[in-house]
Amino acid sequence: MQKITIAIDGFSSTGKSTIAKQLAKALGYVYVDTGAMYRAVTLFAMRNGFIDENKNEAQALVKLLPKINLKFVYNEELGFAEMYLNGDNVEKEIRTLEVSRNVSEIAAIEQVRFKLVEMQQKMGEEKGVVMDGRDIGTVVFPKAELKLFMTASAEKRASRRYKELLDRGEEVTFAEVLKNVEHRDHLDSHREVSPLKLAADAIEFDNSDMGLEEQFERILNYAKRVINKQ
Ligand code: C5P
Repeated sequence: MQKITIAIDGFSSTGKSTIAKQLAKALGYVYVDTGAMYRAVTLFAMRNGFIDENKNEAQALVKLLPKINLKFVYNEELGFAEMYLNGDNVEKEIRTLEVSRNVSEIAAIEQVRFKLVEMQQKMGEEKGVVMDGRDIGTVVFPKAELKLFMTASAEKRASRRYKELLDRGEEVTFAEVLKNVEHRDHLDSHREVSPLKLAADAIEFDNSDMGLEEQFERILNYAKRVINKQ
């Protein structure tokens, strides 16, 4: 059966990675979490002192971009690929609130996007990929056969992210998480390069009041319909 490309975009914490992983597993496709790539570059910038709450030395980071090596390595036990930055597994570090606070500024740098988009296009050139992010259906794969755009209320999204961070042992308040989710949405939607926006041919999906199972069934049906038409 002919393979397709599935692009999943949307606001922060709308469950993009959950549905992307489920779809990839059900269809035997590769899942690519592009947010992990922007997060890993951000971690690199933080470790090298290029960004914190008081400064953003984007040009210094851009010079070092060729020295940033990103790799996804599939973890059989977890059932998905983990992010490696210059040979180190950084899967845990890239998910902290600290990285979330800086990532949207790093993701707005044109040269960073250029490097990562090129890598993403290479990863998906054979199709059979489910990729989630902010610009997948608009910039990375504008010809993707299936495009989804996920939304949910800011409160619902923040409470999901808050639970996740608490489960990982981070000491955060709900107010901090809500502020971060809203701030990132604003920066991601208003940046000059590849802002988050609904592609004309994307299916908008609001999951504020939908269970995971129902969501999965509905989206898997869309995917099967598109695949059968190829
Ligand atoms: O998806 P996740 O929340 O992990 O993404 C982290 C951040 O990376 C987003 O808030 C956004 O600033 C950036 N991003 C992006 N383009 C993508 C994926 C993520 O700008 N394709």
